[in-house]
Amino acid sequence: MDSINKLIELFREFPGIGPRQAKRFVYFLLSKNSGYTSEMSRLITDLRNKIHICESCFRFFPLNSSNAGVGRSATADLAKDHSPICQTCRDTSRDSKSLMIVSRDVDFENIEKTKAFGGYYFVLGGNLPILEKNPETKIRQNELLSCIEKRTPEGLSEIIVALDYNPEGEHTREHIENLIRKEPQFSTIKISHLGRGLSTGSELEYTDHDTIKNALRSRI
Ligand SMILES: [Zn+2]
Repeated sequence: MDSINKLIELFREFPGIGPRQAKRFVYFLLSKNSGYTSEMSRLITDLRNKIHICESCFRFFPLNSSNAGVGRSATADLAKDHSPICQTCRDTSRDSKSLMIVSRDVDFENIEKTKAFGGYYFVLGGNLPILEKNPETKIRQNELLSCIEKRTPEGLSEIIVALDYNPEGEHTREHIENLIRKEPQFSTIKISHLGRGLSTGSELEYTDHDTIKNALRSRI
């Protein structure tokens, strides 16, 4: 397979991209100058080298000098404790009483932009497909339970399950709530989810900020 077709195959793996769009992407890249494609190659390589997954909320974030502390490089910081923690989880001014569970990084970003929530987050890594036999391979449910266990002594009193308002999101929400409810040590934690305003089929990634704010205010 030549480079053009190899790249078309890679683009076809992107979410929502079909063969025609994949082909258009490749020909678009061929039409750009070498500076553009070099920059793009460098940024893609950087995704692996400079973007880390937060060990607390599991979202992706750039590990830069502000994470590393004065006088130390990001790499040294990472090598020292092997536990990169994102800026949001490091922010001690946030409300440790509430934890919001979202499916994906894009949902975190969308909700954070509304400035309507001041607690901490947990990113599940997707929704749970209906009839999935091994849920722990699809979502970070064990990591979620560890996170709740860690946050409980810090005063955690409410978990807001903020997932898509569609069949997979609802299925995931029920699964998560059952999991948490099975643990007696979490029995005093209130579990709520986004309320009115979200119409059936809504994906949080595409939901406008006012609707998210209203759904958060009227959580049930
Ligand atoms: Zn984090």
